[in-house]
Amino acid sequence: MLKKLILIAASLLLVLPLAGCGKNSLADSDALTRAKLTNQIFWGVKYDTRLFGLMDVKTGEVQGFDIDIAKALTKEILGSKGHAVFIEVTSKTRIPLLKNGNIDAIIATMTITDERKKQVDFSDVYFAAGQSLLVKKTSPIKSIEDLKGKRVLAVKGSTSAENIKKAVPSAHILELENYSECFTALKSNQGDAMTTDNAILLGMASQNHNYHLVGGTFTDEPYGIAVNKGQQDLLEAINDALKTIHENGEYDKIYAKWIGGVK
Ligand code: GLU
Repeated sequence: MLKKLILIAASLLLVLPLAGCGKNSLADSDALTRAKLTNQIFWGVKYDTRLFGLMDVKTGEVQGFDIDIAKALTKEILGSKGHAVFIEVTSKTRIPLLKNGNIDAIIATMTITDERKKQVDFSDVYFAAGQSLLVKKTSPIKSIEDLKGKRVLAVKGSTSAENIKKAVPSAHILELENYSECFTALKSNQGDAMTTDNAILLGMASQNHNYHLVGGTFTDEPYGIAVNKGQQDLLEAINDALKTIHENGEYDKIYAKWIGGVK
């Protein structure tokens, strides 16, 4: 009982000053302290990316590698009562949503880059991807050299869009809002190829056998979990938890479940 009262008092102390300054957001408070008080971590995840974060309309639950890693990390950080809350992000919205305090962390196929490090802090690498191309099996495109003057589909706010502009300046890049729109555009011939990380494209190709990956990988895309600047305690807790799930076999289990079968 006393413990409960202390917890309530502590959470009031945490929330009241924020309410006073009119900017009551997760971004301003100590994320780890709040997470421990509420038993919740708010994770920004993809909802449209098979293998990593995909909403299952039948169950109403989002599923994938990023989702299971987030659940495992939440249990490590908060214990068995800890609850991972999932909020949808896209490549374009994930940093603004973190900055605005809608989420505590981003775990959403996000590459660690120096540019992004100016805005957010990243965990250790938890997945190694590389950029590739997806085309119809009948397409003459076999590598990025064949993209000159061609229409290439990519997603706004992704490294893929930026990398391909640099790699093939003469290509016409069409940027879509998210990965489901991007693949729909490819299927309806609005582009000659689609580009993003191999792991994301493999998820699409595994469901649509008329499409395949070509050209190998032409960039390194190390995925990290992003937290707001100034959330050092949460970042350390995430890195410690990542280490633990690597050591106890949980990471390997999740990897085998989502990625093992498609590579
Ligand atoms: N990993 C790349 C990125 O962080 C592409 C995947 C994505 O758009 O999330 O931009």
